[in-house]
Amino acid sequence: MPEKIKIIYIAGTSRSGSTLLDMILGSAPEAFSLGEVSSYANYRAKQGAKIKKPNYHCTCGKFLDECIFWKNVNERVAFNYDESNSAHNNFSLLKFILTPKQSKIKNRSYDDYELYSAAIASAKESNSKVEYLVDSSKSPIRLRNILNNTRLEIFPIFLVRDGRGVINSLCRSSNKKWSLKNNNFGRALLLWVFTNLSISRLLKNNPHRIHISYEKFCRDPKPFLNKIKSLTNINLNLDNPLQTINTTFRHNLDGNVIKLNPPTEITKDEKWKHELPWAKRLLATTIMYPFHKKWVYLK
Ligand SMILES: [Zn+2]
Repeated sequence: MPEKIKIIYIAGTSRSGSTLLDMILGSAPEAFSLGEVSSYANYRAKQGAKIKKPNYHCTCGKFLDECIFWKNVNERVAFNYDESNSAHNNFSLLKFILTPKQSKIKNRSYDDYELYSAAIASAKESNSKVEYLVDSSKSPIRLRNILNNTRLEIFPIFLVRDGRGVINSLCRSSNKKWSLKNNNFGRALLLWVFTNLSISRLLKNNPHRIHISYEKFCRDPKPFLNKIKSLTNINLNLDNPLQTINTTFRHNLDGNVIKLNPPTEITKDEKWKHELPWAKRLLATTIMYPFHKKWVYLK
């Protein structure tokens, strides 16, 4: 039986600091970051359609269709777009959250093992040390699918940021999905609670699981990176984790702006403390308290 492909998977909600973590992990010589692999199906579906959305830029600066890394991958991955699972509609997400282990939301557009195996082969062409792929898709649905794939060995990272910061950031985003300002508070709150609950349930008893509180990570990333290092043997710079991210050449699917302008220091974003109206702040603080205690303050 061929060796399993090792994947470091970052799970959590949007706006939880996954991009930064992905960049730090991807700067280790033994790890190669792919960004948010969950957008691969959409990209392949739109390939050739002359839709040059910024999202379909690779972080190497080229359009994905012109990037040598992704060209290599695409040649090796059979693709047959299945629209039924392209969007995780609200109903399927709710069903998934209630029964994460049973509900079947499968990726039928391509084979995950085939994609990862093509990616690792393509990555090794420029760096033979690569042993791990980093996938920062965040989605619990994708996490469930790849955990069930026996040809993959998953090292899941459960990344949780203070929910009030996530809500504030989502409600202020320019993303159309979140632009209806008034209704967003409740939606963002539920999204935070249920996404994290389903990840927590999926990873219960998982021996490879690493939990990261974003707030604690910003204060001192060392103990968290040390845990990842001892579990995976990837060479992370514990004292200065940002040192190599500027010099790492990456081919990420999601053209997140911070990847084009890497940060020089790790800073906590606590704008919610003065931007979130007091009533919403109070409500979120109350509802989220038990979860914060468990996932963010790590008591
Ligand atoms: Zn590229």
